[in-house]
Amino acid sequence: MRLLVTGGMGFIGSNFIRYALEKHEEWEIINLDKLGYGSNPENLRDIEGDPRYTFIKGDITDFELMKALVKKVDAVVNFAAESHVDRSISSPEHFLRSNVIGVYTILEAIRRSNPEVRFVHISTDEVYGDILEGSFTERDALMPSSPYSASKAAADSLVLGWARTYTLNASITRCTNNYGPYQFPEKLIPKTIIRASMGLKIPIYGTGQNVRDWIYVEDHVRGVEAVLLKGEPREVYNISAGEEKTNIKVVKTILKLLGKNESLIEFVEDRPGHDLRYSLDSWKITRDLKWRPRYNFEKGIKLTVEWYLENEAWWRALVNEKVLHPTPWKLGGD
Ligand code: NAD
Repeated sequence: MRLLVTGGMGFIGSNFIRYALEKHEEWEIINLDKLGYGSNPENLRDIEGDPRYTFIKGDITDFELMKALVKKVDAVVNFAAESHVDRSISSPEHFLRSNVIGVYTILEAIRRSNPEVRFVHISTDEVYGDILEGSFTERDALMPSSPYSASKAAADSLVLGWARTYTLNASITRCTNNYGPYQFPEKLIPKTIIRASMGLKIPIYGTGQNVRDWIYVEDHVRGVEAVLLKGEPREVYNISAGEEKTNIKVVKTILKLLGKNESLIEFVEDRPGHDLRYSLDSWKITRDLKWRPRYNFEKGIKLTVEWYLENEAWWRALVNEKVLHPTPWKLGGD
């Protein structure tokens, strides 16, 4: 199979590409990424020499480029997106460009140059908004709370509308919060590991009671693989490991694994619209595609902490002002 992966130089896309090339000897992958915020060529340095892998620097909003690439492949998997929620509050227009116009451009490129191509669009649990009790299923209404999640919800609607009108072979995945190797240091889990190992304070928004449903990135990547190979056109698949944790619990678990004191924790001003709890029901992907997570939080977080400790050179190069001097949401945080 020839695959076009967009946004493959970021956290989840790079994990997907490494996993896919390792698992499927006969697959060839073109990785298209604009090398924007959150991307890092070091994420895939080790596979650069693989003849089955090609990297192209480019933007998913470039219609001619997308048409040319889509024509050459059997499937497209779209990870490309502006993904940092805090940044979407300070500069939402970039999010509309990549997350909405970008997806529209991919859909139009598919429709005009290769309407048979398989398309998997990567979305997020954040499109449903927050929920105090119970868990969202794929049939629930979309109620986004931030410019980021609003742009992702808009993209999901485009995919469903185009797939139905033009009979495209497109599916959507909606996954919970990922963690694991190669996650950008500004995000909660890597930032906590990095700052704690440097002996710095760990900032937590509000009271730390916000609940996130955490999944080890390899489990998400296996879910995307399952949807790519076995998912039905025009279907949405939630992906969750059912590991709901408050932010404070996540931070305390990491401090314990590192042998650090909880006195490092420091509470900071909450961000506007901060969702209280995310929770997904992923029964559908389990029932229909036989996908199940392999890592519980305890196992995944231990592997993640070990990875960051063993790969200090990787994250040292990315430690920036926002990691060293985290400030409230206005200037970017987790
Ligand atoms: P990331 O920011 O690490 O990676 C995104 C990549 O997309 C970057 O390499 C960036 O350069 C690229 N990109 C952005 N705009 C582009 C454009 N216009 N053209 C080409 N490339 C572009 O993000 P991530 O955490 O790896 O997330 C990947 C996808 O998964 C996103 O769509 C995100 O919404 C979704 N998702 C993420 C999570 C999570 O916890 N990180 C959870 C659920 C869903």
